[in-house]
Amino acid sequence: MLNVDELKATGLSVQYYLVCHRKLWLSTHQIQFEQDSDRVLEGKVLHEQTYNKHGNKEVLIDNLIKIDLFGDYVGEVKSSSRMQQSDRMQLLYYLYVLKQAGINKVGKLHYPKEKKVEEVHLTDAAVKEVEKVLIGIQVVKDKSTPPPLIKLPYCSKCAYYSFCWVGEVD
Ligand code: SF4
Repeated sequence: MLNVDELKATGLSVQYYLVCHRKLWLSTHQIQFEQDSDRVLEGKVLHEQTYNKHGNKEVLIDNLIKIDLFGDYVGEVKSSSRMQQSDRMQLLYYLYVLKQAGINKVGKLHYPKEKKVEEVHLTDAAVKEVEKVLIGIQVVKDKSTPPPLIKLPYCSKCAYYSFCWVGEVD
């Protein structure tokens, strides 16, 4: 039985768990393509622009997650709200880690290109959601082989696309 208090994850693992279990497994088993992805580069540029505009502070916790502190709230900058559910869970996880350190914060998801901001609160129900995700992540990571291929709507935008679907025709 997994002990949730001992489970740690990166923010990206939380994202990947909600997006695709296979992606989570591949990224945590040293099969890395994501750094070369244009989407990741775009995210970094957006992050830098927002960073400068708001003068926020970047805080590294446990050498695991990087949190952007915008004054009294935790911000997360995304290039589009297409993955809003996983964005929200990633931010809830950050708030969860902070809460464990005795720091209570509100989160805000920033979608600068869409001029949209969503406030995120770590309620008791959200804590349970985060813990369920942490257990789920560990279960996927512990598998000895990658989860099976399932064609998902975002496969063509995924950094693992050619790895997963080599030989396939669009
Ligand atoms: S290409 Fe599709 S199946 Fe493969 S890791 Fe990415 S999202 Fe998952």
